[in-house]
Amino acid sequence: AKEQGRGRYAFFDPQINARNQRIMKIKAGLGQALVRDEISVVYQPRVTPDTAVVVGYEALLRWHSGELGAVSPAEFIPVAESTDALDQITDWLLRQVVRDLSSEVLSGKQISINLSPRQFQTGNWAEMLRTTIEQHHLLPEQFCIEVTESALVEDFNATAHQLEEMQALGVEVAIDDFGTGYSSLEYLKRLPIDYLKIDRSFVRDIETDADDRVIVETIIVLAHSLGLQVVAEGVETRAQADFLQARGCDELQGYLFSAPRPLSELGLQQVKM
Ligand code: C2E
Ligand code: CA
Ligand code: CA
Ligand code: CA
Repeated sequence: AKEQGRGRYAFFDPQINARNQRIMKIKAGLGQALVRDEISVVYQPRVTPDTAVVVGYEALLRWHSGELGAVSPAEFIPVAESTDALDQITDWLLRQVVRDLSSEVLSGKQISINLSPRQFQTGNWAEMLRTTIEQHHLLPEQFCIEVTESALVEDFNATAHQLEEMQALGVEVAIDDFGTGYSSLEYLKRLPIDYLKIDRSFVRDIETDADDRVIVETIIVLAHSLGLQVVAEGVETRAQADFLQARGCDELQGYLFSAPRPLSELGLQQVKM
């Protein structure tokens, strides 16, 4: 009855109607986005806190739709997840990253790739990575796979199995948006994880919110005591970077150092101190 009530409400509410229409346009557009060459990848550096040396880059998708203009991944990824478009786009992303790895600026750097929770049920990404790495004679350590805690909540076994295969290969694994999910800490001990990424929402108010400072400190201590490294995302100010460095955070990522940029715009000048 609840479902029905919601459906009827949606039908008559003009705002929800507009929202549904946009989702339908995104769905239709995504199916064509790759062949129309509308999808691209940008890279954001992960740096060491003390000297801001770039240790790796996170690959992030961009979609410039002919019809809708620029659509944020925060909006199109959830829609793509519900179709088979996301697997195709991720496939493309992986191939693009492999091409880009032969550039001077990315050579020897680790590239982090995001996989959505549902993708662990639809594809064997460990196998995909293995064949890609073999075919192109790459080092497995050049890849880090970022998954959110919700992947483990949705399907612990499928996700855990693929993460174990990835680690056996030598690919690194990061838990993304750490602290925002509802999963048990038990999995930290049971899974092959290399990194925790502290979610931006905890980093944002470090300077003003004592609770956030305690949360961040605690995540760093927890990670280190389990032998994991910690990356803080969304670092925008020097004060945030100083706090994170003082607490022993291993890597920083954020606008303070660089926004995500296309390969052609990655250069030596990009990281400011
Ligand atoms: P995420 O994995 O948590 O990625 C970090 C997001 O924070 C990126 O947003 C990045 O541009 C943004 N960001 C980086 N530094 C700062 C900062 O200092 N301040 C602020 N305010 N934001 C910062 P973006 O690129 O819009 O991506 C949003 C989300 O979309 C990602 O969140 C990720 O969940 C998803 N996404 C992006 N690319 C992919 C992909 O290839 N596959 C999958 N499955 N998801 C992706
Ligand atoms: Ca990520
Ligand atoms: Ca490492
Ligand atoms: Ca995040």
